[in-house]
Amino acid sequence: MQDLPRLFLAPDTATLSAGAACDMTAAQARYLGTVLRRDVGSEVALFNARDGEWRATIAHVRRDRGTFAVQSRLRAPETATGPVLMFALLKRDATDLVVRMGTELGVRRFLPVITERTNAARVNVDRLRAIAVEAAEQCERLDVPEVEEPARLTDRLGAWPAERALLIAVERMRDAVSDTDGGVRLADGDGVLIGPEGGFAETELRAILGRPFVRGVSLGRRILRADTAAAATLARFGGF
Ligand code: SAH
Repeated sequence: MQDLPRLFLAPDTATLSAGAACDMTAAQARYLGTVLRRDVGSEVALFNARDGEWRATIAHVRRDRGTFAVQSRLRAPETATGPVLMFALLKRDATDLVVRMGTELGVRRFLPVITERTNAARVNVDRLRAIAVEAAEQCERLDVPEVEEPARLTDRLGAWPAERALLIAVERMRDAVSDTDGGVRLADGDGVLIGPEGGFAETELRAILGRPFVRGVSLGRRILRADTAAAATLARFGGF
């Protein structure tokens, strides 16, 4: 199974089951045919969370079109679980890294937010979704996390479900929890909030910490880049 190319087939475009024929996306056809130079009969693994993972062969591939013949199931379907990552939009490369590392570390939903000191205002969400697909293919996840359109932090906080914890990573904060011994552990649907390159503004931070579901966490005395802080928080407080 290890050396099979692992490809995500979106559940709304295909159903994986024994004997099914599924169309390749144009990108998959180019990747398999042109980049990997695979031909008819060559094996792949196809997956999504609803149908599980399936062994399949290439039935046909030419330029940007192709078909898979689905054979037998390799892994049963799974219910997707994991934390939500709310993060201030960063420069392009750093945002890409947050989505790549977050997917590997189990994030189920990405919520890019605009904070007071956020410099980036726009982002190509389709590109971020493609990065999430690639990361899921590489790290052997069955589900691909959702990536939402950016929204204002205050709006996202206003819509946050009160029964879910939201851990905000804050540098230089005296009474922040710094490890799981502090009794903080992310459960399914709980969230993490990471600030922008310039950090949170003072009044903004006070307002966030004033919400009953928010808990401040520390990642130690060094000031980390926001992308590093996102990965560190997920690794330290997440169990996914
Ligand atoms: N420019 C700011 C630092 C911002 S770091 C300053 O020098 O004060 C970017 C984000 O990463 C922060 O908003 C915070 O969410 C997170 N972060 C960085 N280092 C951290 C640490 N040691 N503990 C907790 N969060 C941290």
